Amino acid sequence: METKQYILSPKEAYEAAQKWRVVKRSVDARQRELKVHLTVLTDDQGKPIAKDAPIPLYEPPVFQDVHHAKRSVVIVGCGPAGLFAALTLLEHGIKPIIYERGKEVSERKKDIALLNRNEGLNPESNYCFGEGGAGTFSDGKLFSRSKKRGNMQRVMELFHYFGASDTVLYEAHAHIGSDKLPGIIKRMRECIIEHGGEIHFETCVTSLKEVRHPIILAIGHSAHDTYRMLAAEGVKMETKGFAMGVRIEHPQSLINKLMYHLSAKRSVSETVRTLSGEAGLIDYVGNASYSMVTQVDGRGVYSFCMCPGGHIVPAGSSTDSCVVNGMSASHRNSPYANSGMVVQINPEDIPGNDPLKGLLYQEALEQLAFQGSAVAPAQRMKDFVEGKASRDLPSCSYLPGIVSSRLDEWLPAHIGKRLQQGFRDFDRKYPGFLTNEAVIVGVESRSSSAVRIIRDSESLESISTPGLYPCGEGAGYAGGITSSALDGINAALKIAERQ
Ligand SMILES: Cc1cc2nc3c(=O)[nH]c(=O)nc-3n(C[C@H](O)[C@H](O)[C@H](O)COP(=O)(O)OP(=O)(O)OC[C@H]3O[C@@H](n4cnc5c(N)ncnc54)[C@H](O)[C@@H]3O)c2cc1C
Repeated sequence: METKQYILSPKEAYEAAQKWRVVKRSVDARQRELKVHLTVLTDDQGKPIAKDAPIPLYEPPVFQDVHHAKRSVVIVGCGPAGLFAALTLLEHGIKPIIYERGKEVSERKKDIALLNRNEGLNPESNYCFGEGGAGTFSDGKLFSRSKKRGNMQRVMELFHYFGASDTVLYEAHAHIGSDKLPGIIKRMRECIIEHGGEIHFETCVTSLKEVRHPIILAIGHSAHDTYRMLAAEGVKMETKGFAMGVRIEHPQSLINKLMYHLSAKRSVSETVRTLSGEAGLIDYVGNASYSMVTQVDGRGVYSFCMCPGGHIVPAGSSTDSCVVNGMSASHRNSPYANSGMVVQINPEDIPGNDPLKGLLYQEALEQLAFQGSAVAPAQRMKDFVEGKASRDLPSCSYLPGIVSSRLDEWLPAHIGKRLQQGFRDFDRKYPGFLTNEAVIVGVESRSSSAVRIIRDSESLESISTPGLYPCGEGAGYAGGITSSALDGINAALKIAERQ
């Protein structure tokens, strides 16, 4: 099959997508007029193929029955890396046995509801731990900056196979949403169990010494106790660069104005009305997002995990710290736009040789931000940059609540000062971005792993512990849902190759 690319207005693109089989789509907001790049499937004569033509979207996966399989593999952690590793093992007739410290997704939801009401954090069941890992109640953005890691399209196909919408197959910045992810994760679990795999919830692995199978270690980057166990058991690790900062939240209407180049006179709703005249177009173009980066004093300052129409959430896993992150539902229709704003930290910035020193550094900042409960410290953006206390705070999506705090004073200077300069830089590019209508919330400390569990680049096996396959975000080789899932697939394939 051939493809053909079109650059269309949102209205034209919307209409084309109702008729034709779209294989790639991206929204281009760089020019004053919003454009949609649409690639459609065509026949030999270059004629677009109808949307509902009887052509399969992809080759469906074939999972084998492993109830009586000769080979089995232990997987620690049921996040994207662990789950996709398990599905890949099933495809190769190997039995996955998953141990997950948190609860299955419907039980986990209850703990998250309590946390959102500021009624306490369960250290074993929260936004980080539980079925589906940190990916379950995440934004569910499915893109990876690295195209070299493997077959990214296969990850999208598997998400689609388990219930994600068609858009994940063609959207340049595909997104599932935290309302849809739990159902998809549940169907993956049902598939694994139905084919003979095992999943043991509420089972924290506290030693690897007794395990006889090959082990896929997919623990994510928040299980600091597990890293300490690995260090005690002689698993070789090293500090890696990471990033920390804050989450920022603007009114979504303001971000739409800035990113879609709308004048003060033309509101977003007016523009969308002019563009559309049709129901469905708002969903089609979506609320605007942004990606910003600058350099301040030799370090990158950048936006991270931007969530249009989303919520800020309490994403810590211990009862004496404050960590925030962001998520959004599939429609991305809250009135808020949030994003991490982080500063690059290099291993040499932290004194000492302990491979876990980055974790200690993260923990120290998270404890500094802690207000005695899930309530998070916050400051208006301009006040933060100008070094003033915020007498009041704007409304904010963060459900446990925010309290006015001098982040400009207590954030370590190499983070705080750089963020202040970074915000000025971003405002030069998008005048109006630096505003007291926006609020910064502390702290965004888990944007990436501060540790790497060292593995052989060919075999993907730990260099110190034969039979151990560290993978995913916690091993320091991935960041995000897609790359972690791919890393899990790659680890499983390596094991499958070794008869
Ligand atoms: C709120 C939020 C929003 C996010 N939004 C996005 C997004 O939009 N797009 C994106 O790409 N990424 C997003 N991320 C990041 C993404 O979720 C992670 O990169 C991804 O989940 C990492 O996958 P993983 O499988 O490596 O680890 P995890 O998903 O962290 O899973 C690890 C699992 O291992 C379990 N575990 C840990 N230690 C043990 C042990 N000793 N014994 C048993 N089980 C253990 C944990 O309970 C956890 O369930 C978000 C994260 C958060 C918190």
